[in-house]
Amino acid sequence: MTTLIESEEHKALRSAVAALGKRYGRDYLTRTVAEGKPLTELWTEAGKLGYLGVNLPEEYGGGGGGIAELSIVLEELGAAGSPLLMLVVSPAICGTVISRFGTEDQKSRWLPALADGTRLMAFGITEPDAGSNSHRITTTARKDGTDWLLTGRKVFISGVDMADAVLIVGRTEDACTGRLKPCLFIVPTDAEGFQKNPIDMELNAAEKQFELVLDDVRLPADALVGDEDAGLLQLFAGLNPERIMTAAFAIGMGRYALAKAIEYARDRTVWKAPIGAHQAIAHPLAQAHIDLELARLMMQKAAHLYDAGDDIGAGEAANMAKYAAGEACVKAVDQAVHTLGGNGLTREFGLASLITAARVARIAPVSREMILNYVSHQTLGLPKSY
Ligand SMILES: Cc1cc2nc3c(=O)[nH]c(=O)nc-3n(C[C@H](O)[C@H](O)[C@H](O)COP(=O)(O)OP(=O)(O)OC[C@H]3O[C@@H](n4cnc5c(N)ncnc54)[C@H](O)[C@@H]3O)c2cc1C
Repeated sequence: MTTLIESEEHKALRSAVAALGKRYGRDYLTRTVAEGKPLTELWTEAGKLGYLGVNLPEEYGGGGGGIAELSIVLEELGAAGSPLLMLVVSPAICGTVISRFGTEDQKSRWLPALADGTRLMAFGITEPDAGSNSHRITTTARKDGTDWLLTGRKVFISGVDMADAVLIVGRTEDACTGRLKPCLFIVPTDAEGFQKNPIDMELNAAEKQFELVLDDVRLPADALVGDEDAGLLQLFAGLNPERIMTAAFAIGMGRYALAKAIEYARDRTVWKAPIGAHQAIAHPLAQAHIDLELARLMMQKAAHLYDAGDDIGAGEAANMAKYAAGEACVKAVDQAVHTLGGNGLTREFGLASLITAARVARIAPVSREMILNYVSHQTLGLPKSY
């Protein structure tokens, strides 16, 4: 297994991205969120440096690497306090799906722009009446001549205000009930009949979430990515990178919170020694560090399997990595807030807002319970309750 020890190239990428992250850091994020703006400056610079498209093919302007490299980018930006959530979506899901299943025209139209960050694509699968059960999605595409007419509703779709298009998961009219036979459509955000309504989230993040209402959105035949019949295989080509990248997002955030807590615990003294000398403070921080490191190992394994083309093996590992990272992140943030005592809840120290942000990694893109279900059924062979 080559992933156990990080290669020199990966180490170099890690430290270069960390340096970029440090130049922006948490203050940049806090300031930009307060202004209600997206993280455009960081996104643009990361794009120019080639970090947003490290996973995309070189012939389309990408770095020719894989999810292993892209996860390093997101983890390091997160560890610096300024994660770019749309990395999970635009290059990781949409870029991957288009580069694996898109037509030549779709590739040349989208990939160079997704790679340098000049265009951005959101991803929409979640529906109000389906939630974790994607087999219940009802967004339906019907043929009208050679065009498609797409109708449905989506919720919690991230970054639609920043996106030029959304990769929408729907079904064709012929396959609109029963087990999901998904079809993926590139839907421009300025299309007629496409409506986005912001959802008021308790999240201190630059990326907003939206409800989408699609009312007979007319799309040309070539809005369909890949094969109408390729179904779940094609969808999972995008969902495994999403899980791996969510793990990277969680590990980055956990590392950021932990670093703040360690810095504080080294200095803060209310008895004879700094609070970090008390094992009640030190040990949970050490445990949080161990849990984050273990989660990263699983994330690296998942990325390695995925990049090697083992979609099935990557599926199990990506789920486990997302689970481990989400749990490690929630615990690290909780312990970091606690370590700072009252300061853990002040705006000045900026950790309290991570309590809700960390929960995202437990819920999305697939909840903790659905991963435990997956492992119970797929890995352990236990029966299903639903
Ligand atoms: C910040 C944020 C950003 C998001 N961005 C996107 C995006 O860009 N695109 C997109 O498509 N979606 C996005 N989502 C949606 C996300 O993927 C869903 O919230 C997630 O899949 C869970 O679906 P749900 O919220 O409908 O919860 P539900 O499915 O209603 O689940 C609610 C609870 O019930 C539990 N549960 C459900 N079924 C079972 C079961 N069989 N066994 C045990 N427990 C069960 C779940 O674990 C959960 O705790 C985002 C969500 C958030 C919070």
